[in-house]
Amino acid sequence: MRTFAFTTSRGEPRIGVVYDKRRFDFTRIWQIFKEIKSSPRTPDYHFLQIMIEMENFSDKVITEVIEEVKDFRGLDDLVIRGEITYDLPIQRPSKILCMARNYRKHAEEFDHDVPTKPIFFAKLPSALLPHEGTIQLPSDIGRVDHEVELAVVIGKTASRLRPDEAMDVIAGYTIANDISARTMQKEASSKGEPWTLCKSLNTFLPIGPYLIPSDAVDDPHALAIELTVNDETKQKSNTKYMIFNIPDILSHMSHYITLVPGDIICTGTPEGVGPIKAGDLIQAKIEGLGVLRNYVAAM
Ligand code: MG
Repeated sequence: MRTFAFTTSRGEPRIGVVYDKRRFDFTRIWQIFKEIKSSPRTPDYHFLQIMIEMENFSDKVITEVIEEVKDFRGLDDLVIRGEITYDLPIQRPSKILCMARNYRKHAEEFDHDVPTKPIFFAKLPSALLPHEGTIQLPSDIGRVDHEVELAVVIGKTASRLRPDEAMDVIAGYTIANDISARTMQKEASSKGEPWTLCKSLNTFLPIGPYLIPSDAVDDPHALAIELTVNDETKQKSNTKYMIFNIPDILSHMSHYITLVPGDIICTGTPEGVGPIKAGDLIQAKIEGLGVLRNYVAAM
């Protein structure tokens, strides 16, 4: 089940779902479902995140809601028609934590040692950019790179998780592109300065287009992952090559930092990172999760 957030041509924020190969207005389906159940509740803009916080974001629940409404009154008038603007599937994460050097060949391409324990850093939520948004490159910041990554969205409050508990706190998965101001990052690293700025410029974290419930992904450690720039393949790997798997990542992070619903965890990028420039079309693809498409412009 693919869920997404969007704004209609009339400017109304909505949630969409891909069902039976068509896109449907899930906000309306949910409203009708609630009316059938005589428990009216108007979803708001952050509906997907609210579903996660209420622990009812799952392939099973969404399918049941759609099929009950389908049986009750049909779905034909709930197909999404016309132009839509994709919004962020998660609008208000409390935090975004990202793995550094979690694919051996990526560590090697920058002559780094392969880490023996997880290394992670934070990106600021203000860097988020939706599907089809434009990455804005300030002038004079030097090289800026793409980094396609599998992103995990947290579904339950979690602290000091054991690895065997970790998969149960995941709400879903999406695609992230950890855009990195590489020249700034190298300068910061050489001086022992933090990465906050080089990783968190505005628009430097495209995510989306879909949020896929965790129960719809059989094995997140066996997904083809790829990125193209102007249709030329730059990164091509598989999530099975992560050095630290998702349970180890969540166990390590939650040992020190409490994870809460809506938090986004980027699991690291494979080899092949490289520069982007104004005019480029960047497409990040993960098997079963769709294609995250973004444009690049100078500002
Ligand atoms: Mg990265």
